[in-house]
Amino acid sequence: VQPAVFLDRDNTLIVNDGDLGDPDRVRLLDGVTTGLVALRDAGYRLVVVSNQGGVARGAFTEAAVADVNRRIDQLLRQHAQGRSLIDRFYYCPFHPEGARTEYRREHPWRKPGPGMLLQAAADLDLDLATSWLVGDQERDVVAGQSAGCRTVLLSGQPPPPGAARPTAVARTFAEAVGLILRATPPPPTRGSTVTWSGPAQPPEAPGAGRSIGPSDSAHDISRTARPAREPPRDDGGLESLRRAVVHLTDELRSQRQRRAEFGPMRAAAGLCQMVAILLALLGLLSLDEWMTFSRWMLGALLGQLLTIALLLADLRA
Ligand SMILES: [Mg+2]
Repeated sequence: VQPAVFLDRDNTLIVNDGDLGDPDRVRLLDGVTTGLVALRDAGYRLVVVSNQGGVARGAFTEAAVADVNRRIDQLLRQHAQGRSLIDRFYYCPFHPEGARTEYRREHPWRKPGPGMLLQAAADLDLDLATSWLVGDQERDVVAGQSAGCRTVLLSGQPPPPGAARPTAVARTFAEAVGLILRATPPPPTRGSTVTWSGPAQPPEAPGAGRSIGPSDSAHDISRTARPAREPPRDDGGLESLRRAVVHLTDELRSQRQRRAEFGPMRAAAGLCQMVAILLALLGLLSLDEWMTFSRWMLGALLGQLLTIALLLADLRA
């Protein structure tokens, strides 16, 4: 299990003022390569998570998204002396108001939903609690927070009142990287990871470098993962069901505990015990009169037996 930095793509890693489907127009933002190298050196895995609603709007195709991602990967490698920096690109081509009907829908992968982060965590064995998300939009922050990560919002100003509060705000990518590196102790996995042994080679398991989903055989989109056509099983629903069951079990257990502590059986047993002690004391006070003594003691004995019976009955309940 490793920590990751989840990266929004457009206007976080690359300049994108509109719908970018042309790999030739890809331009990395200042400080991105250096920042990513620093994050990798600190032991973070790097995962791009990007909404690509332009596919649903018909502005470009999924193949174009893959081309752009491949170009980003290529530029980063060039600037990092051949080192592979991004572990995997995730994108969501769906949009509820898309013009292309096959992409017109809400989808758990679509930010502000945390779907892409959760999928990446499952695919790459990531520890979300020690991971970060860097993005330039509020929906990035919400997605990161929903997945349980800390977040850095790239912005020139603090978020407006009512907006999601990121862990930190940074004006530039370099600043965001500095914040993350200062805020975290070196990840414990550093040095123990098998996948990072080489300085330059992609830390991928066999077969992991390819795309995921039905487009697998159709396109070779290097390390780009797209969601399944059918929305994945709603783990959020299952998770909340699991939590409800756990809550109910806890509640029953504590109720049972409470009943055990303050129940009528226990109260009656306590009362009987006191009566038994009282009778025994009275018996001791009349030691000189054998018959009286034995009556009190018989009463005490019965009281004690009743106490034990009540306690046993309470344990069974
Ligand atoms: Mg963005």
